[in-house]
Amino acid sequence: MRLILLGPPGAGKGTQAQLLVQKHGIVQLSTGDMLRAAIAAGTPVGQKAKDIMARGDLVSDDVVVAIVADRIDQPDAQNGFVLDGFPRTVPQAEALDRLLADKGLKLDAVIQLAVDEGILLKRIENRVAELKRKGEPVRPDDNPESLKIRLEAYRRQTAPLIDYYGKRGILRTVDGMAPVQEVSAEIERVLGPVHEKGVARG
Ligand code: ADP
Repeated sequence: MRLILLGPPGAGKGTQAQLLVQKHGIVQLSTGDMLRAAIAAGTPVGQKAKDIMARGDLVSDDVVVAIVADRIDQPDAQNGFVLDGFPRTVPQAEALDRLLADKGLKLDAVIQLAVDEGILLKRIENRVAELKRKGEPVRPDDNPESLKIRLEAYRRQTAPLIDYYGKRGILRTVDGMAPVQEVSAEIERVLGPVHEKGVARG
């Protein structure tokens, strides 16, 4: 199964991606996590991405597309994956279409987590408070100024993907305001037909 999770920062993509991983034996491909790993390792990609990410802006399409292209070729991704944080722009979505077409692969579904914007700042404040309580590091972009820029980037560059995938008939919208387990159940429900197709295909 190959899925995309779509939604603004704080919508719960990471949380739902992990639940999908447990339920379906697929891998989570989070470009945010991959970029943070590159920063921690001090690679050239990491050096390029560091300040851009801290500010809340998007890293360039070619950098992100290159990391995803490498990652989906790894053996553990052959059974399927859930992309979390990618694609974030129309050119990234087009690049993904080309990458998959070259391999004869198809996306099964794009799951949009719909949330009220008003709740996002609150959720990110909670995430920061929780990490601080546990003495764990807080992301440099989890602050009100960067969040504002991340939300703007989402509205301008990522939200058009709702239409992009809607037109292809693979968009499924789920209410992301519900409790975690309910959102997860709803995702499984909208994936129902995808599973059946998978079984029929053998
Ligand atoms: P969130 O969804 O909470 O905003 P992520 O961990 O997905 O956080 O991403 C954090 C940052 O990493 C983004 O604000 C951006 O700078 C960079 N990034 C992640 N994925 C992409 C992408 N597909 N294209 C461009 N930049 C990205």
